[in-house]
Amino acid sequence: MSNHIKQFKQFIYDSAGDNTHQINEENLQYCLKSVEGCLRAFFKGRKPSLSPSGMSVERRKMWHLLNKTKGYNKDQFKPTSRIKMLVSSVAEFIIVFLMKEAGIKIHNEQDKLNMEFQGVKMKGSCDYGLDGKMHDFKCCSGDNYRVKWKNTKTLLEHDEFGYIIQLPTYHKGAEWSTGVGGWDVYNLDTGDIKHISAKKLDYEMDMSIEHFEEKLKDVKRAKSWEEFPPCHQPIITKSGVEQLDWRCARCPFVKTCWGNKYEPTKKNINQISYIKRSEGAER
Ligand code: SF4
Repeated sequence: MSNHIKQFKQFIYDSAGDNTHQINEENLQYCLKSVEGCLRAFFKGRKPSLSPSGMSVERRKMWHLLNKTKGYNKDQFKPTSRIKMLVSSVAEFIIVFLMKEAGIKIHNEQDKLNMEFQGVKMKGSCDYGLDGKMHDFKCCSGDNYRVKWKNTKTLLEHDEFGYIIQLPTYHKGAEWSTGVGGWDVYNLDTGDIKHISAKKLDYEMDMSIEHFEEKLKDVKRAKSWEEFPPCHQPIITKSGVEQLDWRCARCPFVKTCWGNKYEPTKKNINQISYIKRSEGAER
């Protein structure tokens, strides 16, 4: 177990419910302000743009992001996913607050970063630094904690959201960063926390940035998104229904790419899937 996680766990064990700990006011106010920001952001829409969190997307989606394709779908997330994302962001600020109360020397928290790849400028913000190294904080379900976030090998196998490319990108964008530290991962089901070091991932991180730059070059050259194949092909479900891949169903450009060929299911508000529209219903 890494030292800062050991220190954090010992602090919680010693101080929770002990009536002795004096909260650092500045730390508390920062946390409250950040939680307020999360709650306000929940009600605001966000225009899709190319950012470090979207660097692992395929070329067609990258084209849309880079060229700001109009007519994007604002409601691509399930209501339950929206709430889960809100709870995760709030949990992050609370755990980082407790880490600071534990005496862990977190620095450059939520620094705004400017990055440039192939002449394309991107903005982002990092989670924090620790001993000069870039750290990313992740909240996850118990299942993901056991499977995806077990170790670096399992993260590599399940990196569909591109977490591996984010860390070196933030590192490049922060003058203070001397290298990548890793991920501090919090289990929303059990309250457990661990650190996954990025030490053994130097090669994968370099390759992921190189791959991103290659895709970006292609995308910059293209005149239209139609020059690229769909990022993900539709699937046939066990019941024989043709349905869009979940990544397309969640993508803001679903209408542009697939028109009226697929329609969102209305059966369950928590399950937004796009199924093939029957021929007669085609508009
Ligand atoms: S809808 Fe699917 S194919 Fe189109 S940009 Fe989004 S992910 Fe790619």
